[in-house]
Amino acid sequence: MSSIKLNAKTELEMYRQCVEDAFNQIVITDKDGIIIYANNAVKRVTGFSLTEILGKKVGTKKLWGGIMAPEFYKNLWRTIKHEKSDFVGEIQNRRKNGELYTAEVTISPVFDSNGEIEYFIGIERDITKQKELEQAQTSLVSIASHQLRTPLTVIHGVLAELEETEGSSKIRKELIRQAREGEKRMGNLVNDLLDLSKIELGGFKVVKRKVNVDDFLRNIESEVVPIFDKKKQKLVIHTHRMKFLYVDPELTHEAVINLLTNASKYSSTESEIHLRLELQKKDNEAIISVQDFGIGIKKEDQPNIFNRFYRSENAKEADPTGAGLGLVIAKSIVESSGGRIWFESELGVGTTFYISIPQQRRRIENGK
Ligand code: ADP
Repeated sequence: MSSIKLNAKTELEMYRQCVEDAFNQIVITDKDGIIIYANNAVKRVTGFSLTEILGKKVGTKKLWGGIMAPEFYKNLWRTIKHEKSDFVGEIQNRRKNGELYTAEVTISPVFDSNGEIEYFIGIERDITKQKELEQAQTSLVSIASHQLRTPLTVIHGVLAELEETEGSSKIRKELIRQAREGEKRMGNLVNDLLDLSKIELGGFKVVKRKVNVDDFLRNIESEVVPIFDKKKQKLVIHTHRMKFLYVDPELTHEAVINLLTNASKYSSTESEIHLRLELQKKDNEAIISVQDFGIGIKKEDQPNIFNRFYRSENAKEADPTGAGLGLVIAKSIVESSGGRIWFESELGVGTTFYISIPQQRRRIENGK
């Protein structure tokens, strides 16, 4: 027992009272899922009374459950009953008044002294409000980014006209250049926010097709070379004689561009950046990697860099303009394509990011 200085009766009373009044819903069932205990929160959240709840089977339409797809419950029972493990998930339930609610649920088997399941304990937290708020925030980001596009297009047009009109004073040129920079940064941020809201609304819709590697690379080069030129950096491409890729060209393009622009931002002038395309025959995956010889990522920062808005201190110093969204977007694109993204990095030495994307079963290299 982990409590201190309590006699058995007081201790039992303490447990009873704490469980009874806990904020989260707590339900105890026998090994067949028949409810033998429900705390006050269950009554408050579901609207059912104790007499309606006790003795009934949990997770059915007679009470607050039973509205998820049958596979959900199958998986749940398999986890807790056959695999004898904890089930953790999000579930939609229905209150007695018919209203739907979303709950975060954990169900654990409780074993007797012979290791047989004796009870199940389910702990639920009503997260409906939180979900609604997240949804509202996502919609807001999506709407705001769409709305920002219109004034941005106006600014873009006006600047283009200004550039063409008479007047060549140094100050004028410098002001236009600064405005252009600002416009570009804002445009990138709007695009990133739009992508982020797409991710939150269910990820990217990936349409894979056979893509010519030369065309794919030409598009990438024409986008990044002007960026690299500003820092006199050199893009070195290794294709390992691959001729075709099986990817969503636009989305994969975006993911690779994000990695290449990072490589440029986070390495010094006149450095080389290597882009490699390889076919891993064993797993039938295309591996695209981007290697730089730049600032690197500290060990402590490494677990965080795929988190939204996360930027390491050395990255902020090297380039104050990022939003910390490029890798979140790249990761979502790659994972929606059935692939993986990972990296190797050493502080002050450099970083290599890898993307793997599953290819069609038949051989696709050399056009076969
Ligand atoms: P941003 O570049 O806008 O900050 P990203 O999501 O693209 O956002 O990257 C998140 C963080 O990961 C960066 O701020 C930086 O700390 C780290 N990072 C990404 N790529 C590199 C790289 N090539 N070299 C060093 N650090 C990197």
